[in-house]
Amino acid sequence: MVHRPIYLDCHATTPVDARVVEAMVPFFTEHFGNPASLTHAYGWEAEAAVTQARSTIAAAIKASPEEIVFTSGATEANNLALKGIAEACFSRGRHIITVETEHNAVLDPCQYLASLGFEISYLPVQSNGLLDLKTLEQAFRDDTILVSVMAANNEIGVLQPLADIGALCRDRNVFFHSDGAQAIGKIPLDVNAMHLDLLSLTAHKVYGPKGIGALYVRRRPRVPLVAQLHGGGHERGLRSGTLYPPQIVGFAKAVELGLTAMALESDRLTALRQRLWHGLQPLGGMHLNGDPTRRLPGNLNVSVEGVDGQALLLGLRGTVALSSGAACSTASTAPSHVLQALGRDHDLAYASLRFGLGRFTTADEIARVITAVSDTIQALRQTAATVNPIASQIGHNER
Ligand SMILES: *Cc1c(COP(=O)(O)O)cnc(C)c1O
Repeated sequence: MVHRPIYLDCHATTPVDARVVEAMVPFFTEHFGNPASLTHAYGWEAEAAVTQARSTIAAAIKASPEEIVFTSGATEANNLALKGIAEACFSRGRHIITVETEHNAVLDPCQYLASLGFEISYLPVQSNGLLDLKTLEQAFRDDTILVSVMAANNEIGVLQPLADIGALCRDRNVFFHSDGAQAIGKIPLDVNAMHLDLLSLTAHKVYGPKGIGALYVRRRPRVPLVAQLHGGGHERGLRSGTLYPPQIVGFAKAVELGLTAMALESDRLTALRQRLWHGLQPLGGMHLNGDPTRRLPGNLNVSVEGVDGQALLLGLRGTVALSSGAACSTASTAPSHVLQALGRDHDLAYASLRFGLGRFTTADEIARVITAVSDTIQALRQTAATVNPIASQIGHNER
């Protein structure tokens, strides 16, 4: 077999758990029916499986099954939540509050809504990546219709105080949406305790298949939402399109496994994460990005002094598969908007490594990664310091 690098990019996506694949397989070939076919057994089987999956996913976030709308993933769920609320509520108000460190799947729909005349407040975060509740309190206006704050950050892993944010929104009768793509199956989510009205989910960050997710839409009190896809009236008219039973069954299985394993996996990954961090610290000039404890167990994000970010990733790509930030922005040379929001200067924001540890990461892999990363950083620093300090400095500034 060809040697492949150690996979530590679990915030970009995760492998599908074999038990998830096993649950999905019968729905491709044997139980292949359309869940909307109500006249025969093929349809009924598929419909029963979807109903079961819907219950599992709803229970995982303390919702009821009728509050789950299946989508193609968290991007679509975010779009439905943001545009759907905006369209339903524009006569009541046109102000939306979100945070600078959100995923592009929230920021881009917000930018689109701004082009239609909505006003968006992008709140700054504290240097640990967390939203200050006072900042939020001051941002509310009479015409605020929605607050959107992610549960767990995809770059720095920080966990926003959803319950406190939700309470502030509820007091003011403002709808509260959260992008829970990195959180589902990894940290406890409770739509009631957190006062969530809308919650976006996806399967592929939690060992499920790509291309399936859901939007939780609160029924009591009812959240008004305008559909963004029309045709056929599936999902109570909120999202037309034939349901995809294998993906839905896989999504539910992934969520179920995530919940079962949560406590143990969380302890194990926290320990591995700490081992990695303590293993890299002796290099010096290593800066942890994001709150040290209020973060996803499998996330470590560090900025490295005295190296070029691109050279660092290039030097590592044969040994360890990771990125400096969101998967969708690694192609661009701009430093991460999340790290900049923490107040990191350009060089440190640029020279960052996002480690995403997961269910299949082993202690042996972490030991090898510590060695590989240490060797690469030392070699790059040596080159920069001894061979051509001025040129490396200029090269960096010119980019
Ligand atoms: C991955 C991710 C998304 C996009 O989810 P898809 O299901 O791939 O569309 C959105 N938000 C966050 C925070 C993510 O990590």
